[in-house]
Amino acid sequence: MLALVALVLLNYNFSQAQDRGLFSPFDCREHAETVEDDTQLDIASFIPDIFVQEDITIDDPLLMVDTVNGWKDWMFVENFAFGKDRGDLPMITDMAALHPFFRDRILSLVETCKRKGIELAVVETYRTHAKQDEYKIMGKRYTSSGAGKSKHQYGLAIDVVPMVNGKAIWDNSALWRKVGTAGEKLGLRWGGRWKKPYDPGHFEWTGGLATANLHQGTFPTVPLRDEHYPCLDEDIKLLRKYWSEWETSQSSLTRK
Ligand SMILES: [Zn+2]
Repeated sequence: MLALVALVLLNYNFSQAQDRGLFSPFDCREHAETVEDDTQLDIASFIPDIFVQEDITIDDPLLMVDTVNGWKDWMFVENFAFGKDRGDLPMITDMAALHPFFRDRILSLVETCKRKGIELAVVETYRTHAKQDEYKIMGKRYTSSGAGKSKHQYGLAIDVVPMVNGKAIWDNSALWRKVGTAGEKLGLRWGGRWKKPYDPGHFEWTGGLATANLHQGTFPTVPLRDEHYPCLDEDIKLLRKYWSEWETSQSSLTRK
């Protein structure tokens, strides 16, 4: 059973270029070790056959999560990585930086778009206060929200862009509509509906919470949480730790 869970996690984590191990190994490792016999059937029924192999065990070092320095492994890109001026501070592009439920919706969006022949690149996931301030200073074209006011600062927003022949396509409104519609079908809020600023690469989900709630430390209620996110509290605790490391790191860059 442990090997099975481990394998599912491994495949899940590496099946997406932008999605590397953070939550699943961290939480399900513990839970896998306490799985009761009568729950095995239910868990197994979640696992597509394609993931079922026998040759990997839970001891695989790839499944160990570094809860101290793991944040340093998050992917990020430098300014102009997608052909646009996005300021001096690097942008975090790692899917692991997102709230687990939101991240799964985004993975679905990426998959859905891929099936429609649209390749999406991740421009930014989690955003530090320092980075948000940088956008704010850069002007209204970038954001209308100051530090602490963007959903990016709670792992509940992402910016993406369609890629054609390795080039980011920012100005094809028909293409954006396809992406936006796909996101809305997944229950996401799409920035392509906004005017100030029009932000078609932006998707967010707050489960109905206002920014003020998020600011107070409340996170959205996740549908089917017990079935699909049994360790959400641990996940978020670790996320907040990693976010805080990034906050410290980028605010020290700003001060230089
Ligand atoms: Zn955004």
